[in-house]
Amino acid sequence: MKYIDEFREQTLAQKIATAIKQEADSNRTYRLMEFCGGHTHAIFRYGIQDLLPANVEFIHGPGCPVCVLPIGRIDNAIELAEQHKVILCTYADVLRVPASQSNSLLKAKAAGSDIRMVYSTQDALQIARDNPTQEVVFFAIGFETTTPPTAVAIKQAHAEGLHNFSVFCNHVLTPSAMLAILDAPEPVAIDGFLGPSHVSTIIGSQAYNIFAEEYHKPIVIAGFEPLDVMQSSLMLIRQLNAHQHKVENEYTRAVTPTGNVKAQQLMQEVFCLREQFEWRGLGLIANSALKLNADYTHFDAELRFQLPAISATDVKGCECPAILRGAKRPVDCKLLGTVCTPENPMGSCMVSSEGACAAYWSYGRLRASNKTEQAQ
Ligand code: SF4
Repeated sequence: MKYIDEFREQTLAQKIATAIKQEADSNRTYRLMEFCGGHTHAIFRYGIQDLLPANVEFIHGPGCPVCVLPIGRIDNAIELAEQHKVILCTYADVLRVPASQSNSLLKAKAAGSDIRMVYSTQDALQIARDNPTQEVVFFAIGFETTTPPTAVAIKQAHAEGLHNFSVFCNHVLTPSAMLAILDAPEPVAIDGFLGPSHVSTIIGSQAYNIFAEEYHKPIVIAGFEPLDVMQSSLMLIRQLNAHQHKVENEYTRAVTPTGNVKAQQLMQEVFCLREQFEWRGLGLIANSALKLNADYTHFDAELRFQLPAISATDVKGCECPAILRGAKRPVDCKLLGTVCTPENPMGSCMVSSEGACAAYWSYGRLRASNKTEQAQ
């Protein structure tokens, strides 16, 4: 298949759905975690859950980069803009994430701080070039997919001698989050993973071998189109039926075993591992995030502005932390659709376009709620 329409083709979807119904053992459940928010949205947007038997369940994972950012880091970013008077540049979704004391970057911007939405690291670099007398900080977030462009920007700033540019680095690592979910003191029951697609183009399918070999969890790297998700679910069900635990790659049109070696080298050149990093919902995870390495510390906003570690709690009643662990679903949150909506988000999962609560709200909240009520 070459074009997007072919990955949304109805007849093929029905064929895969029939195969899943025939092959899924009705005497057991299949609890499949889709790590990535992109998969969560595909599942809801195309009604995939409704095509599958009730014993095949999707568990939403923490693979939404905005959702996993802890409140303390947003507070740090607000401090940069308000107290250090920097021009703070970041991606749009981050602006609306609730911070402490009902604040947000958007509110800080409305109150007069110079906070700018950018589409790329190149935009932030250009702002630094255009404003040589002001400090410009790029608030960098995301998994392995968005990390290489940040590395490129830092190298460019270094080459140009751009001394008013720095990066507040919040880049996090996918395999570490998966390990944290499986190693949790009370782990969520997961039978297999739909592996993230875009991240895997960078790190390659081999990066997941540990989950298959040591944790005995099958993984199928899945593309973001509805047929990708359905075919990958069928592949997982087949592995589970055969008592297998392998890494399989459904997204062969973009993912190779070794990934993008050039991007990996860039990341290694500019970043090194943090000993630990706080994730929303998952707490402190060792070796799960990146910081600038010794050659580039002069571009590290955390050091340049002496940012403190801030520990802050989520809004009372918000279930984002449990949702990000896969322990609860958005419909388990009493605030969903009452006080928490995309226009008035109480937690990060409602803000981001990849957030699970936003997916329930946009595509399937009522049906999901009804199912819950019927099951009770
Ligand atoms: S519905 Fe809102 S308050 Fe509830 S978990 Fe989701 S983001 Fe948090």
